[in-house]
Amino acid sequence: MELIIFVILASLIVFILIWKKYKEVKKEEALKIFVNQDFSEEWRSILTQKVLFYRELDEEEKKLFEKQVLRFLATKKIEAVSTSINDEVRLLVACSAVIPTFAFPNFNYPSVRTVLIYPGSFDEDFNTVKHKNHQQFITGMVGNKGLKGTVILSKPDLLAGFNGSRTKHNVGIHEFVHLLDGADGEIDGVPERLLEHSYVGSWLFEIKEEMEEIMQRKSDINPYSLTNNAEFLAVVSEYFFSSPHQFKKKHPDLYEYMVDIFDQEL
Ligand SMILES: [Zn+2]
Repeated sequence: MELIIFVILASLIVFILIWKKYKEVKKEEALKIFVNQDFSEEWRSILTQKVLFYRELDEEEKKLFEKQVLRFLATKKIEAVSTSINDEVRLLVACSAVIPTFAFPNFNYPSVRTVLIYPGSFDEDFNTVKHKNHQQFITGMVGNKGLKGTVILSKPDLLAGFNGSRTKHNVGIHEFVHLLDGADGEIDGVPERLLEHSYVGSWLFEIKEEMEEIMQRKSDINPYSLTNNAEFLAVVSEYFFSSPHQFKKKHPDLYEYMVDIFDQEL
């Protein structure tokens, strides 16, 4: 009797292992097909119109960028909640993820499975409906606890980050910078995996100095960055990627840190 149970259990384990391997191989095959497909002209024209970062790449870099976008779309779910989404929305989510990590092509946000697109900004209870005297001000967030592995973005705010109307704000880039920052285990404004350890001290000092300028209203950086070091990094990254030339002119020291952190000269 015990032998029969043992044989059944052992067969079950072997079956599960083979099945898992089979699924893995299938997934890799699907990913290869997807990433090697051609980027359609229609998609290329959306990126050219909407994504300054893409426009400023040379032809070879554009091809690399497109491959990273395809990989993101092949490996992450993008779902609409009480709204609709089209290719433009999907592409802009992928661009928000690829822009900060363009220099690290092996990084594909292992902690993210799903991106939820909301019809607008929301409150702490994820309500998007406007009530009287009730404000919902969150435009994006990286989920924790029950929402681990999920990023939430407000659709109008995601789109506004790429339509040229906001020169320092891009909620998509903001949230994905948090995730890159958190790749070392903690979302703390110090992306250890990117910064040489000897730079951490001077980076923290730079944050302190910049925060003082913001507090004295001598800076054009969004005061939301004063919340903590993680928000500081995400907010200045939005500005760096949205208006790199203006950012370099106004914040030359901070610009150099951004170049180091993201390994990109813009
Ligand atoms: Zn944030």
